[in-house]
Parts: sequence; C-alpha cells; structure tokens
Amino acid sequence: MFYFGVDYYPENWPEERWPEDARLMAEAGCNVVRLAEFAWAKLEPQEGHYDFAWLDRAIAILAAQGIRVVLGTPTASPPPWLMARHPDLFRVREDGRPVTFGNRREYCPNNPLYHDYTRRIVTQMAGHYAHHPAVIGWQIDNEFGDRCYCPVCAAAFHDWLRQRYASLDDLNRRWGTIFWSHVYSDWSEIPLPLTTGGSPNPGLALDFYRFASDSYVAYQQMQIDILRRQCPRHFVTHNLMGFKYDRLNYFDLARPLDFVSWDNYPRTQWSMQAKVDPSQAALAADTMRGLKPCPDKGRGQNFWVLEQQAGPGGWEVVSVAPRPGELRLWAYQAIAHGAEAILFFRWRTARFGTEQYWHGLLDYDACPGRRYAEIKRLGAEIKKAGAQISGSLVRPCVAMLLSYDSRFALQIQANNPQFSYPDHFHQLYRALYHRHVLIDVVDPHADLSPYRLVVAPALHLVSGSVAANLQRFVAAGGVLVLTLRAGVKDESNAVVNQRLPGLLSDLCGVEVEEYDSLPPGVQNGLEFVLPELTTAHPPAASVWCDVLKLNGATVVARYTQDYYAGKPAITLHQFGQGRVVYVGTVGDTLLYETLAGWLLGLAGVRRLLAAPEGVEVAERWQGERRLLFVLNHTEREQEVTLDCCYTDLLDGSAVRKGTIPIAPRDVLVLQENER
Ligand SMILES: [Zn+2]
Repeated sequence: MFYFGVDYYPENWPEERWPEDARLMAEAGCNVVRLAEFAWAKLEPQEGHYDFAWLDRAIAILAAQGIRVVLGTPTASPPPWLMARHPDLFRVREDGRPVTFGNRREYCPNNPLYHDYTRRIVTQMAGHYAHHPAVIGWQIDNEFGDRCYCPVCAAAFHDWLRQRYASLDDLNRRWGTIFWSHVYSDWSEIPLPLTTGGSPNPGLALDFYRFASDSYVAYQQMQIDILRRQCPRHFVTHNLMGFKYDRLNYFDLARPLDFVSWDNYPRTQWSMQAKVDPSQAALAADTMRGLKPCPDKGRGQNFWVLEQQAGPGGWEVVSVAPRPGELRLWAYQAIAHGAEAILFFRWRTARFGTEQYWHGLLDYDACPGRRYAEIKRLGAEIKKAGAQISGSLVRPCVAMLLSYDSRFALQIQANNPQFSYPDHFHQLYRALYHRHVLIDVVDPHADLSPYRLVVAPALHLVSGSVAANLQRFVAAGGVLVLTLRAGVKDESNAVVNQRLPGLLSDLCGVEVEEYDSLPPGVQNGLEFVLPELTTAHPPAASVWCDVLKLNGATVVARYTQDYYAGKPAITLHQFGQGRVVYVGTVGDTLLYETLAGWLLGLAGVRRLLAAPEGVEVAERWQGERRLLFVLNHTEREQEVTLDCCYTDLLDGSAVRKGTIPIAPRDVLVLQENER
C-alpha cells in the first residue's frame, strides 16, 4: 500500500473544524496523517497529568474517513512547565551559553532528568495507543539536531572517551596533545571544543562531533526500546533532513529504525532562488535511501517522506512560491528515488507561531485553492498507480561514498576557506545525475559489489578497513574515483606519516608531491592529455591543486599554469581488474560534466534514456518489471524517445516506442510491457 497524506495539527484548530478537515483530506486521497509531534504541552498539561482524550477524538474523526495515523513522540518541544522547573535541561551552545526557551529542541540529549521525562511521556503514549486500530507507527522526536556543550555532556564525553581509548596515554598519543602542552593527566581535564577556546585540537574536536552524534543515537534508542516493547506491531522511524544536514552521522541514526523518513523542501526561505536545481532533492533522496541497506538486496532501502513541501516555506521571511505543478512534480521525484509514502507538511497554514509563514496545502482561511487542487489530482493518481509502485526498488550501478568522519573533519578544518565538502560532493553528483544514471549514496564501509562506478569525494579520513574495502572493489573490476585531500587523516584526525594520499597511494598509483591552496578568484587551467577527453576550451581548477607524481598511474590532465604547469592534476591507474581515477583539484562544471561521461564509459554504465537538459529520468524495479519515471523540471514542453512499449500508470494508456512529448513540469510514470 502506498501511503499518501499530510501532517496535521488538530490542536491548532477548533474541534468543530476537524470533521471538515478529515473530509477534505479523504477527498484529496489521503490515507495517512502524522499527528502530535509537537503536542507535549497538550498531552501532559501538568507534570504527571496526561490527557489523550482530545487526540483520541481527532484520531476517531480521521479513522472514520479511512485515514491511518503515525504518531510523533513530542519530545522535540518540551513544555514550558518542564523547562522552567529544570533550567539545567537547556542545551548549551558552542559559545558556552545555554539556549533559552522559545524555539524547539531546547534540550540536552544526555541529561538523565530529560531522559526520565521522555520515558514517562513516551511510555504513556505508547501504552495508550499500542492497540489502537488506526495507529500504524511512530516518528521519534523531530529532526534531531544540534550539539550540546553543557556540563552533563562534558561528563558523558569523558565516559565516551574512556570507552574509546585504552588509556589516557593512548588518547594523548593519538590526539598529539604534546603540541602546545595539552597533555592530560586526568580525563576530567579534557575540555569541550567551545568557540571560546579558539581552534581546538582536531582529534578532540572530531571525537566530540562523533560523541555528539552518538548522543542523539542513544537518546533515540531509548525511545525505540520503549516503543518496541509496548507497540511491537508498529513501525518506528525518525524524520531526517536530507543531504545538507551535517551534525549527525545519519548512517548510525538510521540503523535501528525500521526505515528512514525525511523532510523534503526544494524551496525554502533559506535558498531564495528563482529556479530550483532538481539535483539537490535527488541527492537528498539518494542519500536517505542509502542510509540503510535493503535486506538481501545489497542496495539502499526505500524511505518515507514525512514532510513534503506543500507551499511556500517561511519563518521571518517567505520563500518563493512553488510554481503550478511543482508540488506534484517534486512528490513524483521523491517517489522515483524510492519514496514509499508522501506526507505533505502541513495540512493548513498556522495562523500563529514561528512557522506562521510555513504554508500548508490550505491557507489561513481553510478554503481549498490551487495547491489543494494539485495535491488532489496527485492523490487520485496515487490511488491508481500506488500499488504498482509500492515496494519496487531502485537499483543503481553507481555509488557515491558519504563519509561523516571526513565531513566532520572538514567542518573542523576546511583546508581552504572556499572548500565545502557538501558542495564538492554535490558538484560531482550533479554531473553524474545529468547523465541520467541512478546513484546510491552509501557509507565507505558498505558492500560495494553491486556497483561498477564508485565516487568518493574528498575521502579525507581513511581507516585501514575503508582502504581495504576500496581495494577489494577495484581489484574485482570496479572503477573508483578519488578527489583532492583523500587519505590525509587517520581515525584520530592526525595527518598520516606517509606520502599522500596515505593508505590510498598504492590504489591510486600517485603521490601528492605538494599542494597549493588557492586564494579566491585565482584559477589554474587544465589540459586533457587523453585524446577521448577534449573540450572546446580548457576546464578550470580552483580552490586546491594537488601536484601529482606518477607512481604507476598515467596522466589524464595536467595543470597549465604557475610553477607546476605541466604536472599531473588528474590520473588513471590500473589496479587488479579495475581502475582508479584521482582528481587532485576542485574543477568547474565543465570539468565534472566532461569527466562524468568518460567515467561512466570506463565503468560500462549506460544512461537510462536520452533526455534533454532539465528532464530527469529514474527507474524502479518491481521484481523484473521496470518502472520508468520521466520528470520534466523545465517550463517548456520536452520530448523523450522511448526504446520499448509501456503502459502509462497515471492514465492507463498504452505508450508506444518512439518519441513522445512531456508537458512543462509534468511527469510520466511508465510500466514497461512484458517483453
Ligand atoms: Zn548537554
């Protein structure tokens, strides 16, 4: 069953309105809602006094329309009575100051007292709804978050370090605390990396980031344990935040969940762009799918979208309005990348509160308008096509490695002020995405055997096990791409004591002789040496230039300027049955677009379909039956040429082989006919 619905806050509206809301939801094709994620103050208005009667009434009204319920545990917004009584519960910021009441997620994830309050409310809710026929699952908290630097966390960090290191001597050695005389003689002396302390020891900072991530994983686990014990029939998930969010190791957070859910907002007030780059949401979806391996299948597991954009987003300012057709298009994009459920955030725009400009399907007046009509159309289509889509799998041949260790290490030390790990990652992703291939985003420890091409952007921190995993993949015939600043750090965030790229040197067949960190506005040129790689004008290198020395590899491109003109910048190395490409610089779009075509050719990965710019192609498999998704992200009619005959799942029509039009911001969901 494909789940389709909305996030609903009945507590924001008069009760007399609820039946009409439920009726309109059902009319739009909704079969699920998420409730109660921010309702703690109404569920426990005073300490120890619980009130589920209002929620029972709301669920009964929704259930009468055939709508199922996902409940949020309300711990992301503790009630004022709780925080006023226990000011120690407030999370402390990086600058050492506690947050104050007035937003959400104000709490410290390690505070044992907050754990007690959490256990009580979750236990009460779970007990009350364990056997409710309309309730199907749980979302824990909401968009887990920010690091806490409070005294409780400091003590917990010390315990965490004791578990990780054999002894304090071992820690001192690995972090290199001899530098600036930071040698610790007692665990309690170890500080938190507050901004008031200036640039911290990189080993300490990375371990703190890991600890902070583990803190939320443990806090989540505490809630999971309660729900598993009391509600064994229900699923348990959490709503993550796509690719961009970078404070938590999402692989760790995803592991104990039944499946990953996430929140998909292509247009927010934080990115006021006239045009949406659809590769951003595609990357987010592929990351979310890659967080959990599919049992027995090797590749990523499908996900839910628990918050799908329903209108302009906004807190203090309002985002660009989603254009007509975009809400439907973005929902199909998420489905094409593995969504098993789409819930729009939110049903009706709140009249009050911080998110009063975060628009829902209905506006303040609750009258169905353009956005409701668009979603109603989508709901009718999902009713028809959902069963064919549900459970079908995405099976990419290309993977990109997302290393949270590297990402955290590069947050601590960007190496160059212009360098951004997520932007670099996205640049490479976008070039492959434009070639109409499917991509999994996976952990560097993942089983890489399903893939032919693996791209590991700025794999800065490399353990022996990751190096061995990459060697296995390449030796067996895979094509691996590594880029600048690979293999620089060991697991303690110390620089390796060998020529770069460290543990990856043999694999790459190069040594980094030296490197040049470029100032803003300064570029070097790149000249391709391989005849199959030619461009009308030379691609540009910027930000960082690794000057390479061949050690078995051959040259793909050289620098054209400065004292290292003529030196290799990009190389190719045969290793076992496979090949390794090392790209020692940050390129421009031309470089990545050119390399993408060549790399896919090298790895023998074919595009799904030839399609014009701005038209996305994706694929899911129902057993051996192929579903093709064609998404026109442009404002013009486009054409695609199909290589076989299909059934259009949205209108039931037969689609013949050959060229067919696709309207602006429209989609095709096609099921391949049996051959
Ligand atoms: Zn804390």
